Amino acid sequence: MLGSLFVLILPLGIFFAITATVVLRYPDSDALHVAAFLVALILASAAQLLVFEWKIVPNVIALERFRELLADQERGARLLVRRDLELTRANDQLRKLDETKSSFISVVAHQLRTPLSGIKWTLNLLINGDMGTLTAEQRTFLIKAYESNDRMISLVNDMLGADRIESGKVRYFFQSVPLSEVIDEVLFELLPQAKARGVSITFASKPTHPTKVHADPTKLRAVFQNLLENSVKYSQEGGSIEVSLVPRGTEEVEVSIKDDGIGIPKEQQKNIFDRFFRATNAVKLETDGSGLGLFIVKSIVERHGGMIWFESEENRGVTFHFTLPLEREPRAKEKAAA
Ligand code: ADP
Repeated sequence: MLGSLFVLILPLGIFFAITATVVLRYPDSDALHVAAFLVALILASAAQLLVFEWKIVPNVIALERFRELLADQERGARLLVRRDLELTRANDQLRKLDETKSSFISVVAHQLRTPLSGIKWTLNLLINGDMGTLTAEQRTFLIKAYESNDRMISLVNDMLGADRIESGKVRYFFQSVPLSEVIDEVLFELLPQAKARGVSITFASKPTHPTKVHADPTKLRAVFQNLLENSVKYSQEGGSIEVSLVPRGTEEVEVSIKDDGIGIPKEQQKNIFDRFFRATNAVKLETDGSGLGLFIVKSIVERHGGMIWFESEENRGVTFHFTLPLEREPRAKEKAAA
């Protein structure tokens, strides 16, 4: 708007200013009037050319706008620096809070572990009749107390495990581990629990030759314990669980654990590996649970260089799959050197 006014006013102004000055100064000279008229016309046209054709005014306006933008940007940059400082400070505070929370969990969990182990030991003595004969009813109650205490111990262990993962304090001791043996051992330990729930477990597909993986045996056991306990826990009476082991090329082996239990609702599947997450159907069926098991499992599998995933449909079961790196065969040269 200002630009177009300027385009009109400037040449006209020049024209009138020159002609009016000459006419007023020399009112009697026609020749001078004509000359002034011509000069004014030329200068006004030149001004018009400058302004209009060579876009001096629009450029001046654009320059002004550019300056404003620069100033805006500078203000924005200063604001960003301030926000960055605030975020860094908030981040530091959060880190400190997180460290405090971690050490709190760690202290509480360690403090709880000792008395819980003491209770377990005492209950064991009582149940075995080492401190006198019990009636059937007394024994049943003591067994219930023993089981509750065991659940508390595993919750405390899960809390400590998850916290160690978060703070990066977990140490791994890798070695060659015969995979089928680990699975057989965990299955054997789990048999009473499965039997009590009327669930059958089969280790159907396994390779004919021993499959050795490069793994930390204790952590690997925890993976199978967690996944298989979940399959038993979230199966209905009469359900069945299948474990299979299939080598994938020469580098890795894929383990699958399939059950036909309650499954995981579609809309909650994305959260299943999150800390403390429990699906609504699981909470309804089994009130005990920490939501830490799968978080720990995923971290262990990934630390071994493997991947974990699952497929599921609610009320039709879940199949968890994960891969582990196979123990590397020593190459001919290495064999010769050894
Ligand atoms: P928890 O079993 O203690 O709740 P997990 O971390 O082991 O914790 O499992 C997280 C959630 O994943 C469970 O609460 C449940 O909702 C779901 N889930 C895991 N395994 C199964 C399964 N085999 N069948 C159905 N849901 C499962």
